[in-house]
Amino acid sequence: KRLILVGPPGSGKGTQSPIIKDEYCLCHLATGDMLRAAVASKTPLGIKAKEAMEKLDEMLEKRGVKVDKVLNFAIDDAILEERITGRWIHPSSGRSYHTKFAPPKVPGADDVMSSIFFASDEPDFISSLVKVTGEPLIQRKDDTAAVLKSRLEAFHKQTEPDLSSRKQVSGHYFSYARANWALMLRPFWATGTCPLVVVIEYYSKKGIVANLPAEKPPQEVTSEVKKALS
Ligand code: ADP
Ligand code: ADP
Repeated sequence: KRLILVGPPGSGKGTQSPIIKDEYCLCHLATGDMLRAAVASKTPLGIKAKEAMEKLDEMLEKRGVKVDKVLNFAIDDAILEERITGRWIHPSSGRSYHTKFAPPKVPGADDVMSSIFFASDEPDFISSLVKVTGEPLIQRKDDTAAVLKSRLEAFHKQTEPDLSSRKQVSGHYFSYARANWALMLRPFWATGTCPLVVVIEYYSKKGIVANLPAEKPPQEVTSEVKKALS
């Protein structure tokens, strides 16, 4: 099965992905405003990212572009700052942790972990964390309240465009309606912007979009995901 996960940064896509990855072939179209900014500015990361996006495009096209479900992580912006600023990532696996909501599990030492996390201004924070978990965690440079603000602006612009941009989007939508949707998206991806609204609208009409209550605790979101996929 193929799924698309849609949601603002911090809505829990990365957290839920590994849980459903075992059961489903996961096609992850993230919002990646950072990535698109890099693409637009033609930095080395941007060039790499563009290649990756083109590969994704190609891959979906080759496989016949059949998507079974779109999981829309619905969440209020106000909740996201705390999630994003407390996020710590294990780079090699991509797993997300959180100082408050998802501290790494150390058997019998949860309280110790919390106190280490909250002392994160300490210069030896990372090394002490490695000692406890055996895994170095990093914070994304763009996981700050200030950058989140612009990432959210970009997300809303792409998912809920105003009337003028919507007109333009609709033009593409209708003119490409008979082609597959990867073709439909190509003109946008070529410019480094991905019109999520087109994707969501397209799949909404097919009746395969599930809106998830992403503000709930992780386990509850997981059971909603499973419900949507059953
Ligand atoms: P995304 O991939 O959508 O950007 P993540 O899955 O990385 O979001 O989650 C962002 C942060 O919030 C992480 O630190 C994660 O541990 C935490 N988190 C994820 N889901 C929840 C949840 N349901 N409740 C509380 N915190 C969560
Ligand atoms: P956001 O939290 O803004 O939605 P994501 O973290 O989901 O962004 O990233 C969007 C896409 O960009 C994902 O497919 C991810 O794998 C990719 N990506 C993110 N950071 C990098 C990076 N530093 N290098 C290459 N690809 C990246």
